[in-house]
Amino acid sequence: MKFNTKTIHGGQEHDKAYGAVMPPIYQTSTYAQSTPGGHKGYEYSRTHNPTRNALENAFASIENGNFGLAFGSGLAAIDAIIKLLKPGDEVVSTNDLYGGTYRLFTKIYEAFGIKFHFIGMENADKIENYVNNNTKLIWVETPTNPMLNIIDIKAVSKVAKKHNILLAVDNTFATPYLQKPLDLGADIVMHSATKYLGGHSDVVMGALVVKNKELADRLYFIQNASGAICGPQDSFLVLRGIKTLHVRMQRHCENGKAVAEFLANHPKIEKVYWPGFETHPNHEIAKSQMDDFGGMLSFTTKGNDYDASVKIVEKLKIFTLAESLGGVESLSGHPASMTHASIPKEEREKTGVVDSLIRLSVGIEDIDDLINDLKQALG
Ligand SMILES: *Cc1c(COP(=O)(O)O)cnc(C)c1O
Repeated sequence: MKFNTKTIHGGQEHDKAYGAVMPPIYQTSTYAQSTPGGHKGYEYSRTHNPTRNALENAFASIENGNFGLAFGSGLAAIDAIIKLLKPGDEVVSTNDLYGGTYRLFTKIYEAFGIKFHFIGMENADKIENYVNNNTKLIWVETPTNPMLNIIDIKAVSKVAKKHNILLAVDNTFATPYLQKPLDLGADIVMHSATKYLGGHSDVVMGALVVKNKELADRLYFIQNASGAICGPQDSFLVLRGIKTLHVRMQRHCENGKAVAEFLANHPKIEKVYWPGFETHPNHEIAKSQMDDFGGMLSFTTKGNDYDASVKIVEKLKIFTLAESLGGVESLSGHPASMTHASIPKEEREKTGVVDSLIRLSVGIEDIDDLINDLKQALG
């Protein structure tokens, strides 16, 4: 089955009771047993729920994995991965990563005796400098947020395999429409399904997909034992979202490219960060591991003025000023005052998050309206 068919049919079967084409929302916590242990595969909804299982099968299918797991949020999914580790273990992670992931690692898990090294991974050879016998996990986010750096998943997976370390990739920005980390050598792929997989900004959810049965069993154990699962209603919504992932992503990519090119030619713009440009430092890697370049981009304005950028995001009308990304509607964000406000100015500027940086999640509206909105806001 090809990807554009998998999004609609992958891992799915018609409802056994009445042939419903969409999986019913099994809004139940428990299941009747005819005799103790005499059930139909479902005992309690923290452990299993038919609607959630349908979604988990869809996750596995679109990422070319064998096992999918759904969680109450993207961070709950990351939390389950870190619970594979024990005190004394070490993690090597990309340094330009989602703020909530950084917070979970440093503010929660460092206190449990897990050590994290945050490094730039544009050059995969550098990773080995941080690897020792305690290293159990490499954490990669690519493209990164908000600087749109690209990390070579295949090159990192070679290092991980050589030292027998798990490699997990946060595939939230790219989605499996553009990039399939398991095919490139990753052991675990993670999603904030809140973003493109759900796609309509109406649900918070996380996903994991793996190929290996033993690893899947360990993660299912953690999912059930820790209990950070999602409900059947949310499972239904994300399953419905996935059915249009490929058509949405196609338009996100087209609009993203048009907006990137418009901004690059605008006299007030200093720099546009978008991996589709040949001048992007990791363009060749992006081209080799992604099928297109996505709808996320960031830019700075000439003069690098904090207040001028705040004005721009205030003046945008179709681009809504809001946290999050990946929905059908276009969103804008000003990292220095929003997502990265808690990081000291010098620290955030080291990774490129300067005062004027604006991040856009380009939606699937008519491109003329999006360009005109940017024109008036910049004008
Ligand atoms: C949003 C996001 C997360 C966290 O997911 P939640 O669903 O908000 O918990 C993790 N990684 C990336 C790249 C994200 O954009």
